[in-house]
Amino acid sequence: MRYLKHLSLLLLLSIYVECATPTLPQSNHESATAMLYERSFETKEPNIAMLNLFFTQMPKGGDLHHHYSGSLYAETYLEWVKNKNWLIDTCSFKIVKTKSNASCKQISVDELIANDTLYRQLLTLWSDKDFNNHSHDQLPPDSNFFNTFIYFSPISDQYMDIGLNLIKERALSENVSYIESMLARVGVNSTEFFNAEEVTKLNNELRNTTSQEEVNALLERISTVFSNAQAFNEKINNFVKELEQKHQGIDNESFTMRYQTYAVRVLNPLQVYTDLFSGYLAALNSPVIVGVNIVAPENNTVAINDYTLHMRMFHYLANKYPKVHRSLHAGELTLGMVEPKELLFHITQARDIGRAERIGHGVDLPYEKESLRVLEDLKHHAAIEINLTSNQFILGVTGNAHPYPIYAAYGVPLVISTDDSGVSRNNLTHEYILLASRYHPSYMTLKTYVYNSIDYSFLSPEDKIKVRAQLDKKFMVFEREMSALAKHLK
Ligand SMILES: [Zn+2]
Repeated sequence: MRYLKHLSLLLLLSIYVECATPTLPQSNHESATAMLYERSFETKEPNIAMLNLFFTQMPKGGDLHHHYSGSLYAETYLEWVKNKNWLIDTCSFKIVKTKSNASCKQISVDELIANDTLYRQLLTLWSDKDFNNHSHDQLPPDSNFFNTFIYFSPISDQYMDIGLNLIKERALSENVSYIESMLARVGVNSTEFFNAEEVTKLNNELRNTTSQEEVNALLERISTVFSNAQAFNEKINNFVKELEQKHQGIDNESFTMRYQTYAVRVLNPLQVYTDLFSGYLAALNSPVIVGVNIVAPENNTVAINDYTLHMRMFHYLANKYPKVHRSLHAGELTLGMVEPKELLFHITQARDIGRAERIGHGVDLPYEKESLRVLEDLKHHAAIEINLTSNQFILGVTGNAHPYPIYAAYGVPLVISTDDSGVSRNNLTHEYILLASRYHPSYMTLKTYVYNSIDYSFLSPEDKIKVRAQLDKKFMVFEREMSALAKHLK
């Protein structure tokens, strides 16, 4: 109910004056909207079409767990491949820049689309399309999901200004006001600053550490080398400059976009730290880069073995640069996917050591050794980014096996997000439909999640006030409209 405090009396009065048929005060429109939502549950199965209409119209605030390259559809990437006159290899379905003499043909995008069988096959590899609805050769679902990035990676960063605008248009069409997108690594390669021998030595030293103090000492040494290198600082400045250019024109009265950089947890520790350190410095240098994350499959062998080391890197950087926000993918695991011992501590360490302000996924909570303490800690200090579609596909965790009901009942702050809406071919509306149809939270609870998506975002305090005020207005319009719709439905 926190948002009610922000509903100024003045705004309420102005709505009264503006409204052509001001028969109900806003609180009554809110109750009528809540009652309309409940009507979707009067039948044996929830009325999905009605929930779809309801949530398409509902203001949804922000999408805080959003990967830029995974959010664009394969169709968009094919258009870009066509623009570049690049080709598709008909055996591997990978992008190639020129024809080769190999036994497989390389064809244009137009030729691919003209061949329905090949085109559909590509869509199953570049996204989750048709994975579950017909029998065909397929990889394990987590491999199918994460491999999509390998297919579209040659093109995904080529037209970023267009991509950002597409994401904005799609957000506006489903009443989303804010996107916090995990955009890219800064792009500094550690091998440009350390020779092969030094790289091997530092990776070994990092992996042999057994305490935070040892990690700190090594990271201090590495950071000094970077800070003294002009080329390193130039790379960060160029990254910031290019991003700010691409961002121009994105923010307006009804939409705001901000970015996170990230490290890729399957790379060697020196490269992971290089990405984190450069990401922190980029965030310090730009108001549109608001946080740093760590991405890629958490069940990967390297990611599993280096997990605590990665958390210690975040700890070191959080102490050094406390103003840079941190959201960490943690607990995107389930039984059978990894050895049971790996399910005991990831969310715990992301909070205790990594100092995450938000946790991405948090699905392994019920398995964690200190789950009760973690719940209490999260309730007061961090939010969980809930990604239902992605968890169902990658982990096979769905229904009441998902920890959502535990988090919700305990009062942990939650936000609803899409993860990779291009790969999953979902949207934020769909995530709310899944949430409502599975767990039937109240309308007021859903509204709390929407406001959480601004309150727990990494927007500056001034931007939060601005986006929150926009959201208040949007809810007034929405609830007035749903109240009117309820009268037309028998
Ligand atoms: Zn993610």
